[in-house]
Amino acid sequence: MALEKMGFNSKLIHAGADKDQFGSATVPIYQSSTFGFKSADDAAKCFLGEKDGFIYTRVSNPTIQALERQIAILEGGFGGIATSSGMGAVSTIYMSLLKQGDHMISTSAVYGSSRVVMESYFSKFGVESTYITTSNIENIKKAIKPNTKVLYIETPSNPTMEVTDIEACVALAREHNIITVIDNTFCSPYLQRPLEYGADIVLNSMTKFINGHADVVAGMIVARNEELYTALHATMINMGCNMDPHQAYLVLRGVKTLAIRIERAQQNAMKIAKHLESHPKVEWVKYPGLKSHPQYELAKKQMSGPGTMICFELKSGFNAGKTLMNNVKLAMLAVSLGGIETLIQHPASMTHSNLSVEAKEKANITQGLVRIAVGIEDVEDIIADLDQALAMV
Ligand SMILES: *Cc1c(COP(=O)(O)O)cnc(C)c1O
Repeated sequence: MALEKMGFNSKLIHAGADKDQFGSATVPIYQSSTFGFKSADDAAKCFLGEKDGFIYTRVSNPTIQALERQIAILEGGFGGIATSSGMGAVSTIYMSLLKQGDHMISTSAVYGSSRVVMESYFSKFGVESTYITTSNIENIKKAIKPNTKVLYIETPSNPTMEVTDIEACVALAREHNIITVIDNTFCSPYLQRPLEYGADIVLNSMTKFINGHADVVAGMIVARNEELYTALHATMINMGCNMDPHQAYLVLRGVKTLAIRIERAQQNAMKIAKHLESHPKVEWVKYPGLKSHPQYELAKKQMSGPGTMICFELKSGFNAGKTLMNNVKLAMLAVSLGGIETLIQHPASMTHSNLSVEAKEKANITQGLVRIAVGIEDVEDIIADLDQALAMV
């Protein structure tokens, strides 16, 4: 059966497995930095791209290539480019698409390092950027300038769970010859496939859902067409943002259970979100699966499920957040998401503690905001843990 015809779950199991000469069920780790040529002519053909041979692992490697092909199939794009980390993917995209004098528009609550790389480093080379709430398309319209080249969207955004309309972004960007890039990390291709809505480039920090076991840092770019793929791939190779074969092997192992991991964690998340919404110490809950979410309908349209990320506000603010953190026993006090274990964090005292109160307000990091990345444990245990810790607040 052709891979392209298979359902998503079948692709998870079969799209990464190129059978080797022994019929191995898994893709072997080709732990080799370089590959020998049969002859000078053979080498010439490989370098000219006339033959599909491997040259050097920074350029390509059989284990890494198996993963690149699989994720490209899952996202529905022309080709995948594996990177050392999610940030390796972000940096490769910026470096490839932007030059001096260009302008980028992005989501204000975008992943912290994605903003730092732009505002602290690319700004040194004359690249301008504007950060806005992209869940309101009018804000994007107003931010477009003659030199805008890239619209870089994260949806849902972190940790505020705002949902941006990908289709509307693409339509607007096309009118102005702007390339649309979507950071799909909070969904993975199981819940959302931005290329199907016309986006040009999608990236995932595979550290999160795609690998899913909190044991790898890795990234992947998928490009809609050959032209973008070729440009991005060359940038990755030359900048040295490449993946390692052992990393690729672990992600190939993790991705097989992507669907069942997300399904289970998502069921848990729905129950936890509802429980928190009726909890007397909680001011509000933001979860795309709740009718109270401001973009509930949009999330239902563009995502195949509401995901596993919840944020909520504690009524008694900053100290309540710290007390909750210090009393949870099952949930792990940690950043990251998309793994099998439940993680919890309080942005105001943890990830965003360096920001002033005003800067936090501007980024919607309220004093009592708590983020939970729901895992696949028994939901009763997660709820009992949250309840006993909330009782201390
Ligand atoms: C974690 C994350 C990144 C960065 O990925 P790394 O693998 O940590 O480099 C980028 N975007 C989002 C939305 C993330 O959650």
